[in-house]
Amino acid sequence: MAAKILDGKSLAAATRAALKHKVDALVQRGARPGLAVILAGDDPASKVYVRNKTLACEEIGVRSQQIDAPASVTQEELIERVRKLNADATVHGILVQLPLPKHIDGARVLESIAPAKDVDGFHEANLGALMAGRPGVVPCTPLGCMRLIEHAGVPIAGRHAVVLGRSNIVGKPVAQLLLQKDATVTICHSKSRDLAAICASADILIAAVGRAKLVTAPMVKPGACVVDVGINRMPDGKLAGDVDFDAVKEVAGWITPVPGGVGPMTIAMLLENCIRAAAR
Ligand code: NAP
Repeated sequence: MAAKILDGKSLAAATRAALKHKVDALVQRGARPGLAVILAGDDPASKVYVRNKTLACEEIGVRSQQIDAPASVTQEELIERVRKLNADATVHGILVQLPLPKHIDGARVLESIAPAKDVDGFHEANLGALMAGRPGVVPCTPLGCMRLIEHAGVPIAGRHAVVLGRSNIVGKPVAQLLLQKDATVTICHSKSRDLAAICASADILIAAVGRAKLVTAPMVKPGACVVDVGINRMPDGKLAGDVDFDAVKEVAGWITPVPGGVGPMTIAMLLENCIRAAAR
């Protein structure tokens, strides 16, 4: 039987509708949430991502401002921008769109964001809080993956979750969130051996690698929940995930499409983080 589709587009729409009520209540209190997005350079994909984020803000009444910097911007200039936003009471969330131009140490810029305004959840203070199981801002994409899994009622406790990828923005935090929900978690990366066998033992498989169709049907346990974070541009211009969707959907119990799965949930979780920051 074909897998159930974890429809990120409709769950994200429902999430945004619920968030709009929270924004309306905050506006009544005179505290309209505000997001500032810094875009350095002219990466076309980044421009699209930033546009989607600011449009999503407008849709639910979050004030958004985009700060464009040329590719030649210096690290100090960017950090100065962030400092000004840290001090601006109308800005509750600050997001620095990645990747930054190559001459800039992205980690230094991210660390300059006040942790309470770090709505991407990439600051070491927030990543540390996640690791320690303390309150903090949770990165948007991992949070979106968990919402999709939980909304579908996929059992997590005691199940084997395999995460492909160990980045600070997706792989490691999603592994931590699954561990918090009592999964037994395995994290794989480019040096992992027997990837196919490890994947085939997963009840929940999260693919966050950036290699088109890396996960094939024989690598998936029948009935497993497969969450595809990957976004890969194919030679024909179409988008593909890290999972061979057409083949894997015949084996899996649940699966996210690309596009329309994790991507829309990432933006919805960004809004949620921003509104939570404004409500503090
Ligand atoms: P990243 O920083 O490049 O990390 C990729 C990870 O995959 C690394 O840990 C790498 O291992 C591992 N890897 C690479 N090749 C592998 C292989 N053949 N087998 C097993 N593991 C392998 O990427 P990222 O930022 O985490 O993003 C991952 C993907 O998700 C990308 O396609 C990105 O565009 C997408 N993404 C989507 C969203 C969304 O909203 N949908 C958000 C963020 C990212 P090493 O550590 O050993 O190098």
